[in-house]
Amino acid sequence: LSDRITGSFKSLRSKGRLSASDVEETISQIRRALLDADVALPVVRSFTAAVREKATGAVASKALNPGQQVVKIVNDELVEILGGETRELDLSRRPAVIMLAGLQGAGKTTLAGKLGRWLRTERNRKVLLVASDLQRPNAVNQLQVVGGQAGVDVWAPEPGNGVGDPVAVARSGLARAEEYGYDVVVVDTAGRLGIDEEMMRQAIDIRAAVNPNEVLFVIDAMIGQDAVATANAFQDGVGFTGVVVSKLDGDTRGGAALSVRGVTGVPIMFASTGEKLTDFEQFHADRMASRILDMGDVLTLIEQAERTWDEQQQAELAEKMSEGSFTLDDFLVQMRQLKRMGSMKKIMGMLPGMGQYREALEAFDESSVGRIEAIVQSMTPAERTDVKILNGSRRQRIARGSGTTVQEINSLVERFEQARKMMQQVSRGGGVPGMPGMGG
Ligand code: GDP
Ligand code: MG
Repeated sequence: LSDRITGSFKSLRSKGRLSASDVEETISQIRRALLDADVALPVVRSFTAAVREKATGAVASKALNPGQQVVKIVNDELVEILGGETRELDLSRRPAVIMLAGLQGAGKTTLAGKLGRWLRTERNRKVLLVASDLQRPNAVNQLQVVGGQAGVDVWAPEPGNGVGDPVAVARSGLARAEEYGYDVVVVDTAGRLGIDEEMMRQAIDIRAAVNPNEVLFVIDAMIGQDAVATANAFQDGVGFTGVVVSKLDGDTRGGAALSVRGVTGVPIMFASTGEKLTDFEQFHADRMASRILDMGDVLTLIEQAERTWDEQQQAELAEKMSEGSFTLDDFLVQMRQLKRMGSMKKIMGMLPGMGQYREALEAFDESSVGRIEAIVQSMTPAERTDVKILNGSRRQRIARGSGTTVQEINSLVERFEQARKMMQQVSRGGGVPGMPGMGG
């Protein structure tokens, strides 16, 4: 998903002016990418409609850098649809009750441990986990294991305390918590592979018995297109106040997360990112948006470039390139600009079609810009304009003057010649093979 969206951003960014059809093209690329990532159709529709409206406005206003504006609009809309601000858990009563619901295997029991640990260490709360999943033979034991890892207590049914009756276990667990001064009770419940009435009935009964502050609906990020149906069934059945997206560590495309919030309107509160209890964090819409769009890098790049890149200078350089009068001085100017833009490798890696130069990029050492400066400054104006006059004795003089070696000068001259050749090819309009976006 992120590759394709950043791909469409790259082509946008390279344009100085945007037309309505550029906007449409971008929107249709994003639309396809979202659908491929299993984002639900209604969510995709409202998303693209909002982006279209705002982007069209940005283009019509003839604003500076419309491409960048569109990128920002897409990001902002995504943050919006993912829920905007992070919502805190409601822990207002004592004990506060948090009930977990979701399909079997979604990650509820693991979440109980994660939440228990997080509440204990990050919120300084005394936590009791309650084992109201009596469906699976090993479920109670599993909760006891994660409770032990989390360093929190577990309420498991014993004879007289509701063996075989999950509702009674929940009720007795809450009574226990009240009696022993627990701050938070986390109720683990049973799930099925599919949604069925009996399971939903049980969840509703448990809910009625413990009157939770929060019902957290746990959903596996890899669930794909079933996300909407499942979320709707739980929303219509037991109902929920928050969403936890689990298994975000996998090869997930983020579609389920987008869909659930978009369709139910209930905020995503936590993200589970692994099997360990520490693989858990509060959900931040802006970070998820970046993750989906891989935009952290893209936005930073644009901002850095904006701050430092002198368009005038660029235009001059482009002219020199096409005239073939590009000199070492110009080369130095360009190196300095690139250096100012931040990490050279990162930037070059973002240019469309630079993949084939990755090896050369890996070898590029940013600190070498300083040495290049020294070398060029030790040259006479004539030498900078025409490297062909650099014979052996001139090279030795420059090496001494710049505190470098003849080998370094040789390699700089070689690289400069390569760059000039490449630029001439580009400016002739044909473009370098395999470097779309840089040609024409
Ligand atoms: P439940 O049936 O809803 O209680 O689900 P479990 O908590 O038993 O989790 C089912 C499986 O998913 C277990 O093997 C967990 O270790 C695993 N699991 C849970 N959360 C995550 C997660 O965030 N990432 C990964 N990779 N695995 C998870
Ligand atoms: Mg479980």
